[in-house]
Amino acid sequence: MNRRQFLSALAAAPLVRAADNKPNVIVILADDLGWGDIGCYGSDLPTPNIDSIAENGTRFTDAHVSCPYCSPTRAGLMTGRYQTHFGHEFNPGPAEQAVENFGLPLAETAMPARFKALGYRTGMFGKWHLGYREPYRPMRRGFDEFYGFLGGAHSYTDANADSANPIYRGDTKVDKVDYTTDEFTREAVSFIERNKDNPFFIYLPYNAVHTPMHALDKYTARFPKITDPQRRLYAGMTAALDDGVGAVLTTLDKHKLTNKTLVVFFTDNGGPTLANTSRNGPLRGYKAQVWEGGLRVPFIVQWPGQIPKGKVFNHPIIALDILPTAIAAAGGTPDASWKLDGVNLLPHMQGKTKAAPHARLFWRFGRQYAMREGDWKLVSMGEAPMLFNLAKDIGEKNDLSAQEKDRMRAMSAAWEEWNKKNIAPLWQPRAAAGQGKKKKKKA
Ligand code: CA
Repeated sequence: MNRRQFLSALAAAPLVRAADNKPNVIVILADDLGWGDIGCYGSDLPTPNIDSIAENGTRFTDAHVSCPYCSPTRAGLMTGRYQTHFGHEFNPGPAEQAVENFGLPLAETAMPARFKALGYRTGMFGKWHLGYREPYRPMRRGFDEFYGFLGGAHSYTDANADSANPIYRGDTKVDKVDYTTDEFTREAVSFIERNKDNPFFIYLPYNAVHTPMHALDKYTARFPKITDPQRRLYAGMTAALDDGVGAVLTTLDKHKLTNKTLVVFFTDNGGPTLANTSRNGPLRGYKAQVWEGGLRVPFIVQWPGQIPKGKVFNHPIIALDILPTAIAAAGGTPDASWKLDGVNLLPHMQGKTKAAPHARLFWRFGRQYAMREGDWKLVSMGEAPMLFNLAKDIGEKNDLSAQEKDRMRAMSAAWEEWNKKNIAPLWQPRAAAGQGKKKKKKA
C-alpha cells in the first residue's frame, strides 16, 4: 500500500464503522384496524406482542394517517408528503379498472429508495397498493426484495383468487399460499436472518385485518367464547397479526438487534366497522371519513436505548412523520428538495423538546376536508364545516362553529391556504368508498 492508498483507506475507515452502527428500521402497517382494536388502546382482543412495542417505547394517543383510505395513506407514508400535493388523492379501484397512470407518481421518491441511498438493504412483504404497472412496482421503487401483492385486498389462503392481482415474489407469480399473514411474517423473519450483519429497512404492510374475513382454525380456536362468527374470524385474524409482530420482535432479540432497530407499528386508516367488526373506540365515523374514526390510528414506536420505555405521547402527529424520523435514525439528512411535510419525532420521543411537533395538520379527501390546530378540529363532510374541541369532545358530537366564529374563519383561511398546494386528483375513485362491500352507514 502506498501512502496515497493508505490515506484513502484511512479516510474510508470511519465511514465503514458508521455504516456498521446504522440502526435497522422496520415499519409494520396493519390494514383497516381501528383505534380501539389493540390491547394497549383498550381492545378486548389480546395483542400482547404489539402492546410490547408500547411497553418498550412510545405510544401515541393522537396519531393520524394522512387519508382515511388505503392507497393515499401509503403514498403519504412512502414520501413523507401530503399525497394531495401530488394528486394521489384516491384509491384506484381493482386492477382491471385502474387508470393507466395509477400508482405513486414516478416523480416522487419512495422511502426504500431513500434507504438504499444510505446503504441499506430493503425488503417489502405484504400489500403494495401503489401501482400495478411495471414502473410502479415495489422492485422499481427501491425495494431489493418483494413478496406480496399489488392490489388493495387479497384472499388470505388462495394465491389464485384474483388473476389480475396475483401474489408475487419479486416479479414472479406465486401459485400457492398457506395464509398471507403467516407468509409475510415468514418472509420478514427470513430477511432479518439474511441481513442481520448489515443495515436493513423492512416495510411489512400486512393485509390483516382487511376483508375478506379469512382466519385459520389455529387462530380462531383461541376464542371459543366469541359467539359472533364474524367477530371470531376478526379475533383470529388479529391474533395472527399479533403473532407475526411477535415473531419479528423475537427474531430481533435472537440476533441481539433489538437495541439497534427502530420499530414502528400503525394502521393505514380507521376501522370499517361493519365490514370487518373492527372498532374505533369512542371515535366518530369510519374508514373513508375524515371524522376521527377514519383518521386516528394506533401508533407505537420502539428503539430501546434511544427512546425511553413506556412513554405516552399526546400531541397530534401524522404518519408523514415516519419517513423523516426513520431517515434521521439512519443518520440521513433530508434535503429541502424532498419537500417533506412530516417532521422528525425522535427529539420529541427522547424528551429533548416539549413542543408540539405540528402547529397544524390538514386533510383533503374528495369533498371532505379537515384540519387540526391544537385541540381544535375543523371538519367538513362535503358541506358546511363544523368545529370540535377534541380535548373535551373526542367523539365529535358538539359542533362549536356557531360559538367560535373567529376561530372558524381563521382555521378555514389556513386550510384554504394549505389547499393551494394541492393539485387536482390524478384519477377519480373507481370503487364505492366506505364500508367495503357492505352497505355504507350514514355518518
Ligand atoms: Ca386500509
